Amino acid sequence: MALNVLIVEDEAAIRELIAVNLESAGHHVSRASDAEQALTCIRRTLPDLVLLDWMLPGQSGLAIARRLRANERTRTIPIIMLTAKSAEQDKVLGLEAGADDYVTKPFSPRELLARIKALMRRRAPQLTDDVVEAQGLRLDPTAHRVSGNGLALDLGPTEFRLLHFFMTHAERVYSRAQLLDRVWGDHVFVEERTVDVHIRRLRQALEASGHDRLIETVRGAGYRFAATA
Ligand code: CA
Repeated sequence: MALNVLIVEDEAAIRELIAVNLESAGHHVSRASDAEQALTCIRRTLPDLVLLDWMLPGQSGLAIARRLRANERTRTIPIIMLTAKSAEQDKVLGLEAGADDYVTKPFSPRELLARIKALMRRRAPQLTDDVVEAQGLRLDPTAHRVSGNGLALDLGPTEFRLLHFFMTHAERVYSRAQLLDRVWGDHVFVEERTVDVHIRRLRQALEASGHDRLIETVRGAGYRFAATA
């Protein structure tokens, strides 16, 4: 699946090498060469993933990672630190600052892509191409198809993303604000009642196979996908 990736790297040659490789793998890339540019990018659009160089002019990558983790809006963005430091102590510092993974320079583009894939599986499975199934409900991200007990179900793009998120995060309750953050990417311009509208549409689309029962309303808290209902 195409990811929006922000590359924060002050060395232009490395930044471009990474960008070209990500783009040829089908991802969309934004580029920043310091903390200020990175934060401006993130204010505009929340990326699906940040590749963060450790040694930057001004604020370090470590400081940026801490800032992202301390902010409600950016708290869950997957972060991979890029660094020339390979000492154990530095890895620990990076992970403590909130990085999810750590790639030591020099690295091959293939290695980086593999690490990205593994991290997204772990941190944002709703952004991967893996087929998900529960209770006879099947969602195929590559084909962009959903079926219930073999019956093709017709979902709009937002309902598809919502169902994909639910199926990859079953049994947990999400508030409307959390769903906006995780499914819409950003809640700056969308109202919370929008979530209810799309939940209603999603349930309608799932009614044909009876899977609407899996989308549960949790009074006062939000919604939950019940994989064992
Ligand atoms: Ca650097």
